[in-house]
Amino acid sequence: MSKRIAFLRIAQETNALSPVLTSIDDFRRTHFFEHGDLLDRCQPRGEEAPGFLRNAELSGFVKAMKRLAGDEVELVPMFSAWMIPAGPLTEDAVRWFLDRIRREFEAAGHLDGVYVSLHGAMRGVVFEEPEADFLETIRKLVGPDVPVVASLDLHAQMSRRKADTGALFLAYHTNPHRDHASTGARCADVLYKAVTGQARPVMAWRTLPMVLGGGFTLDFLAPMRGVFRYIRRVMRHPKVMDASALMVQLWNDDKHLGWACTAIVDGDTLLAEEVAHELAHKLWSVRHHMPPLFPTADEAMVQIRRAKWARRLGTICLSDASDMVGAGAVGENTRLLRTLLEEGEGMRIFATVRDEEVVEALWGTSEGARVEVEVGGKICPELSRPLPVEGVVRGRSTDHGFGRRVLLDLGHMQLIVTEGPPLAMKPMFYRSMGLKPMKADVVMVKSLFPFRLFFLCQNRKTIYARTRGMTDFDAPYRVQFAHPVHPVHPVSDWQTVDALRRGAWY
Ligand SMILES: [Zn+2]
Repeated sequence: MSKRIAFLRIAQETNALSPVLTSIDDFRRTHFFEHGDLLDRCQPRGEEAPGFLRNAELSGFVKAMKRLAGDEVELVPMFSAWMIPAGPLTEDAVRWFLDRIRREFEAAGHLDGVYVSLHGAMRGVVFEEPEADFLETIRKLVGPDVPVVASLDLHAQMSRRKADTGALFLAYHTNPHRDHASTGARCADVLYKAVTGQARPVMAWRTLPMVLGGGFTLDFLAPMRGVFRYIRRVMRHPKVMDASALMVQLWNDDKHLGWACTAIVDGDTLLAEEVAHELAHKLWSVRHHMPPLFPTADEAMVQIRRAKWARRLGTICLSDASDMVGAGAVGENTRLLRTLLEEGEGMRIFATVRDEEVVEALWGTSEGARVEVEVGGKICPELSRPLPVEGVVRGRSTDHGFGRRVLLDLGHMQLIVTEGPPLAMKPMFYRSMGLKPMKADVVMVKSLFPFRLFFLCQNRKTIYARTRGMTDFDAPYRVQFAHPVHPVHPVSDWQTVDALRRGAWY
């Protein structure tokens, strides 16, 4: 008889500092597929996440499962809900998912295995750690013996509640993330072997009292390159099925926030513990490599002026590092925008800001009309002030997921005002409003790393500018941690806090 394996996704990277809560409608608007449609999207010709990725974890999982099992496994597609980084989930949103999980599993009947694609840094206003609630519910529905495998982003937060569900966790091995599909395939491998009895996977994990380190944390640069090399080496051991390093996302208010690692081993608990322990040591050893301190807006302007050749041969990507929508910021901070507007005369600048009111007010205005408005600084007035601008309306468009957008010509700046979060990460963000990034001196992006891949053809120089906002690197200094955490407090060893957090003494 064929084995029945269910798969589903509930993913969002939460920025706990954002006051803009995430509702079910946000998921539905951004990415929500179910059942047969979801399975079709995970086939070789399907598109799993339109507008984001052609293939991600679920299609990687489906493809690998087909290769491993053929008709031996019946896949039960449940649903896939994905939302871009934003504020915590509302209570209703979490309850909606819990109810949906219950109904899906009841309708599915007997299952031999479950794959869940999560982010791992989801937060909620009432349910503080919604992903733990999802996994606990799944565990109750399938019983203690059915293998559950969960994939995570490497910016996930590992916790005792998650681990206590008995799910096996593994994460991306790349940053910026390029291995969504192969992570799904790794999950298929572990789950297939578990379901068919070819292996008896056991997981060990460690959590570290550190929230920063590893420099830029890119997998191909020192010091993290060494850590990922170690992971690849250890995975060659015949009994080691998988290993992952988790480096958290900084804008998470979990009082146990910290880097972590997991190791999945076939039938050998001691070896799993050993691998996890060794990997934790490796992670702890890079804690003093702090991320670089980004220039201020004024310092960034000096760099931009000097980079004449970069501007002539292409463009400069200027990352608004304190307002990264790609990391869950609201996208309405005007601090960098103000500097660009006041001091960028003579350059051609493409920029963006979120302002629902302005989009609403200008939506009916005819193209070519001269307008005066105040943009940004309205959702979080404590972080930045609204910026008065005067210019000409040049275009309008509606973007699936992010709502309506208006293009304002402010002379040296072309400003896209958006109704929803301005996820300026790909050239398409500007191109879809008729702007050619190659022709600009400066293109503002609201992302930390991924834009570097997408803008590879246009970008001649990357500059990060820090002002003050929702995605500053000093965010952990504002969190009340349950235990001392590096680099907020002096911490001499990782093992005490690890033991406390996991409830394990050794
Ligand atoms: Zn990530």
